[in-house]
Amino acid sequence: MKSIAAELAYFLRGRAKQNLKYLFLYCAFLVGMILVYAVLFRYLMLHLEGRDFSLIAGIYWAITVMTTLGFGDITFHTDTGYIFAAVVTVSGVVFLLIILPFGLISLFLAPWIEHRLRYRPTIELPRETAGHVLIFGIDAVTRTLIRRLQASHIPFVVVTPDNSEALRLEEEEGIRVVWGSPTDPQVLGGLRVAAARYVIANLSDPENVNLCLSLRAQCDTPIAALVSEAAHGELVRLAGANQVIPLHKILGRYLATHATTQGAMAHLLDSFGSLQIAEIPVHGTPFSGQTLAEAQVRQRTGLAVIGLWERGLFTTPTADSLLDDEALMVLAGTREQLDALEKLTGEQPADDLVFILGHGRIGCAAATFLDRKPVPFILVDREENPACDEHVPIYGDATGRLVLKQAGIERARGLIVTTNDDSTNIFLTLASRHTQPHIRIVARANHDENVPQLYAAGADFVVSNASVGANILLNIIESKASAFLTEGINVFRRSLPARLAGQTIAASQIRPKTGCSIVALEPPGGGEPAVVPPPETVLAEGMGLILIGSPEQEEHFSRLFPKAK
Ligand code: AMP
Ligand code: ZN
Repeated sequence: MKSIAAELAYFLRGRAKQNLKYLFLYCAFLVGMILVYAVLFRYLMLHLEGRDFSLIAGIYWAITVMTTLGFGDITFHTDTGYIFAAVVTVSGVVFLLIILPFGLISLFLAPWIEHRLRYRPTIELPRETAGHVLIFGIDAVTRTLIRRLQASHIPFVVVTPDNSEALRLEEEEGIRVVWGSPTDPQVLGGLRVAAARYVIANLSDPENVNLCLSLRAQCDTPIAALVSEAAHGELVRLAGANQVIPLHKILGRYLATHATTQGAMAHLLDSFGSLQIAEIPVHGTPFSGQTLAEAQVRQRTGLAVIGLWERGLFTTPTADSLLDDEALMVLAGTREQLDALEKLTGEQPADDLVFILGHGRIGCAAATFLDRKPVPFILVDREENPACDEHVPIYGDATGRLVLKQAGIERARGLIVTTNDDSTNIFLTLASRHTQPHIRIVARANHDENVPQLYAAGADFVVSNASVGANILLNIIESKASAFLTEGINVFRRSLPARLAGQTIAASQIRPKTGCSIVALEPPGGGEPAVVPPPETVLAEGMGLILIGSPEQEEHFSRLFPKAK
């Protein structure tokens, strides 16, 4: 079906489209001709032979004569009539049986066959190809990634098993494509995978597993895989992916953290004794718009900012890092310090009620996140989510105002609009802004081009799936430091490796060598941990280290500093 549509689409483009116009004009000319003959037929029959025929009979006669069928059921019996019938037959042969088929063949069939024959999909890259990014699976995310790669002059190749898709991407969009099955070893060889810079696996989760295993049988090229279900991440990693990106989970969490009204309640990630690691949105805190140095978070609250999440990316902040209103801070400190910060942020989440419109993969992730805070929420979806047995949504079409009204939407303080259809999202945003001017609306854009419309409709914050996904991938490809994208942030405890005792933190080179940062030092024999110790701190034997890093960085640390037996 898809390929028939693709073939038909050929006739709606360029030269073929122009020719289609000529065909219509020609058909109109033929119809006109038949009508003129039909009228003449009636006139001649009446005046030459005194027989009265209807116009329909005239049209029927003209068509049977022009197509040389000539049933002979209606015939003239006068010489003028014979001459007229002969003229109609000859003109039918010329215009209907010669010019029309000839035109169809030369204007449509021949160019189409030629187009198909001319297109030879690439099945192998030149032997010397290297440093390229291989993209398996094309959708809004990878399309945005492609634009970013083009802007950064990073070479890339899209791989697809679908011949028509290859043709479309290559001819219409000028994208470099290789045609072939992503799990065929011969195809992978021809893609020069061993020399590639990165592989982006953006197929279904099972196909990604298959792809990773096939690639690992051949080379060590790093693989970044997008998984649609976070729970599949581990399997894809086991199959050989270096980076696993549960994009829907990241997007859900991103939407959720921006939907709660002012009450910037800390969300606990982990705790080590009295040390707590928590996330808190910048919006609602007094630090919004300031740099880390200006905000003086440490001086005012005793808490250390150990990370910043921005548009799905995690970075380790420096003094100049801007605390953007849209960002999420990762903080380390005691419960009392976190409580003190929550007091600074004003409004309490107790009055919060968030409506989530769309309980798909992203809406479900947002709900899970709010659940853990906890912020009360109500889910609305017209269908059941087969992957979720945790939440109980209200069933109905969210665009039906009555559904939302009956669910009590007027009590909501925040709204997450996350259906898979952008027009629906724009409609829901506009309708909600209209009826509830003060509600906080966070909307999801499935396609980048709809972001301005969502803002225009009244959204306070828009998250574009494609942009977030593409940013994460580009960050990985460019191997920017500390992108914690996988199952979140790993904060882990290790005892001080014996060989580091007596050195300062700076001299230990833990950060440059492993990428992990020290969040806190636990003094030997217990006591209050020192949060984010300065680089000149001397490491003493028996200390506990609390570190933060990606799963890879944690592994790196373990390899470099194996645990003492
Ligand atoms: P996902 O892309 O996995 O986050 O799924 C999007 C969800 O939005 C699906 O569960 C759809 O059923 C839901 N959805 C789409 N349109 C509407 C609508 N008009 N009302 C309610 N839910 C919708
Ligand atoms: Zn759910």
